[in-house]
Amino acid sequence: MDLVLRNAAVMGSGAEGPREVGVSNGVIVEIAPKIAAAGGEDLDLGGRLLTSGLVESHIHLDKSRIIERCAPEAGRNAANAVKRVQDAKRHFTVEDVYTRAKTTLEAAILQGTTRMRTHVEVDPSGGLVGLEAIEALVRDYRWAIDLEICVFLQEGMTGMTGAEGMLIQAIERGGRITAVGGAPGYDRDHMKQIARVFELARAHDLDVDLHLDFGNTPEAMDIHGVIELTERHHYGGRVNVGHVTKLSTLPPEQQAPIARRLAGAGVAVTVLPATDLFLMGRDQTYDIRRGIVDVNAYGRLGVTCSIANNNILNPFTPFGDCSLVRMANLHANALQVSDPDDLRACFEMVTSDAARILNLDDYGLAVGKPADFAVLDARSEAEAVAVVAVVLDAFKRGRRTVTRRPPKLHQPA
Ligand SMILES: [Zn+2]
Repeated sequence: MDLVLRNAAVMGSGAEGPREVGVSNGVIVEIAPKIAAAGGEDLDLGGRLLTSGLVESHIHLDKSRIIERCAPEAGRNAANAVKRVQDAKRHFTVEDVYTRAKTTLEAAILQGTTRMRTHVEVDPSGGLVGLEAIEALVRDYRWAIDLEICVFLQEGMTGMTGAEGMLIQAIERGGRITAVGGAPGYDRDHMKQIARVFELARAHDLDVDLHLDFGNTPEAMDIHGVIELTERHHYGGRVNVGHVTKLSTLPPEQQAPIARRLAGAGVAVTVLPATDLFLMGRDQTYDIRRGIVDVNAYGRLGVTCSIANNNILNPFTPFGDCSLVRMANLHANALQVSDPDDLRACFEMVTSDAARILNLDDYGLAVGKPADFAVLDARSEAEAVAVVAVVLDAFKRGRRTVTRRPPKLHQPA
C-alpha cells in the first residue's frame, strides 16, 4: 500500500470505533479496524475525523477577489452587487481572472476541498475571458482538485443582444462544462430564460444549476416553474437551485408542500449563507431577516441540499476564506441548529450531499473509491461544524496535497 491512515474517526461510521484506511494506486483498497504495516506513508490520526474531500457545490472563482476595485456600496438599501461587479468585469483579462481565481482555488484546496463546481459568467460584457482562465485552472490544478464548470449569464438573456449566442458558444467548448446555469431574477422574462436553460441542458446533456428566487418577499417565485419543467422533461436528479431566499420568508406550513414537491421532482437546493446574510433584509434597518432556507428542515422532507461559499471578497460577499466547514457553521449558527444529528447533516451538506448534487458517482469513503481525503481536527462531523475544525491534512488520489500542523501553546516550564 502507498498510504495507510490509522486511528481515524471515519466519516459516517458513527460509534463504530476507530478505523484504518489503506490506499494503493490512488484508490481506497481497505477499511478495517487494523491494517498490517505497509511500505508507504503511515499516518496516525489520533482519533481525528477522516472525511472524503470537501465538495464546493457553488462558487464563483472568476469574480472572486475584486472587492478593492469595485465602487463602494451606494447605501444600505442599494447594495447593487451585480452593477458593481459588471463595472469591474469590463477590465477583466484572462491573466487577471487566472491570477485571482488561482488564489481562491488554492485557499479552497488548503481547506480540504477536492471537488468543486464553479459558476462562470459568459455575458457579452466579459465574453469568454473568465471561461478561458478557468479552463486553464482545471488543467493546472488537477493534481489537487476536480474542478467542473457551470456556464451562465448573470446579466440577463432575453432581449440582451448576443447573450444567448455567447452562452451557446461557451457550452460548445465542452471540456469540463457539466452544467448550464442562469440568473433569471436579472432577466426581463424569468420563465423564458429558465425554459431556454432547460432546452440547452437537454440538448447538450448537462445539469441545470440556477440562481433562483433571491429576494426579500415571497412574491413572484420561479421555483414552481422549475419544478414543472423538471417533471415535464424527466430531469430529476439533474436540477439544482441556489439561494431561494424567498422561500425562507414563508411560514413553515407553506414551505413544507413546496419542499415535498422539490423532493418528488428531484430538484436539489443549495444555500449560500454568507451571501444571503450579507444581502438580505437591506430594506430593514433593525430586526433584520436572515433570508436563509432551513436546509435541515428541507432535508427531513427528502430534499437533497448543500451548503456552499458562493462568493469570496466581492460585492456579493466581501468576506471568505473558502472554508466549507465555516459555511456549515455559519448556517447552523444563523438557523439556531444545535442538535448533533442536525450538525452532522450540515457536515454532509458540504461533503456527501454536495457530491450527490454534482452527480459524483466516484465519491465516498469506501473501497474502490478515489483516495480523496481531508483530516479535520475534530472527533466527529458534529464537532467539526461546531468548532469550525481546521483541516490538518488533505490527499488527492492518495497523494498528499496539504499539511497543516495544529497550533501549539508554548507554556513555560
Ligand atoms: Zn452564485
